[in-house]
Amino acid sequence: MTMTPDGPLVNLLGLPRAGLEALFAELGERPFRAVQVMKWLHHRGVDDFDAMTDLSRDLRQRLAGLAVVSTPEVMHEFVSTDGTRKWLMALEDGQRIEVVFIPEKDRGTLCISSQVGCALDCSFCATGKQGFNRNLTSAEIVGQVRQAAQRLQGVVTDRDRAITNIVLMGMGEPLLNYDAVVAAMDILLDDLGYGISKRRLTLSTAGVAPAIRRLAEITDVALAISLHAPDDALRDQLVPINRRYPIAELLDAVKVYLERLGDWRSVTIEYTLIDGVNDSLEQADALATLLADLRDRSKINLIPFNPFPGSGYRRPTEARVRAFQTHLLERGFATMLRTTRGEDIDAACGQLAGSFQDRTRRRERYIARLKDHGVITHQAV
Ligand code: SAH
Repeated sequence: MTMTPDGPLVNLLGLPRAGLEALFAELGERPFRAVQVMKWLHHRGVDDFDAMTDLSRDLRQRLAGLAVVSTPEVMHEFVSTDGTRKWLMALEDGQRIEVVFIPEKDRGTLCISSQVGCALDCSFCATGKQGFNRNLTSAEIVGQVRQAAQRLQGVVTDRDRAITNIVLMGMGEPLLNYDAVVAAMDILLDDLGYGISKRRLTLSTAGVAPAIRRLAEITDVALAISLHAPDDALRDQLVPINRRYPIAELLDAVKVYLERLGDWRSVTIEYTLIDGVNDSLEQADALATLLADLRDRSKINLIPFNPFPGSGYRRPTEARVRAFQTHLLERGFATMLRTTRGEDIDAACGQLAGSFQDRTRRRERYIARLKDHGVITHQAV
């Protein structure tokens, strides 16, 4: 962190419009300075105050004395055979985080991190295995998007903007870093920031029920709930925060959030399918019963378990995954299967660990599978 005699310099990337306006008010400047500076920071990608030519020289100098613009640094870029990109980024104190970009025909989704590591220790998640290190600042959360947008310039050229959707599904539990996440989302939604629509910004949580209720008071971004089990006994094992906020309490909070979303929007229920653990038809049936009240207000997203070394779990066969999905569809639930992307670069859900691992074998296996399925006929990358 850069220090001045008065304390640390503020990283302007993390200040929402209202925060910047307050800063300029303190400096005796008019609020529209915030508009000018946000455009420089987020639209034009300028870091240097001297280049902000519509500010007076005096103001530029004063800003340089109290603020910085600092973005996480890309240490390594991984490109999957399927086009998914993963960046290992370093923060100012040397901590590492991972950010994933998933291109699809009509959209580009960026998956960002909210913490270094994670304290929740879900039994099937690689991030949890490394433990909790620290919260990210709002500037570090926004900085991931800024860095990715710059990296994607010239790579995605068939639409205006490469990043159309952002999901807080990387490392960490966003609702345990509430203030920084809320400030960062403000900037991501702002037209002067990244102009992402509230339907295309998704916060995913393991179920911090009181924070979901609090969130409902201030925003209506899309919400995804990591449920993964149809009953408390199993969920206590897989998602230990369930012991603190059991399923009934979690679903009550979800209902409060749904009220905030209005009549036409739904929440996403994420369910990672683990072989022999939570993937039986009885469990599909119990899940449908549990969610009966929410049937028309939820979409179920099934995620076949993504393996990582030492997890002790396996991915179910495709037939088992399909049978689980079919059962939920028959019970009237909109149920999607999340296709695994970027597996050869360990970029799939639950595989982000912020470190280099031996990826060669996994990559070879993945390429072989793509070839088996006729997805590629030769190695594209
Ligand atoms: N902490 C937040 C966001 C991060 S994880 C949350 O729990 O929602 C994003 C999603 O990936 C969660 O639904 C998580 O449970 C799931 N996930 C974690 N590890 C996984 C793995 N190995 N395979 C498949 N999905 C996994």
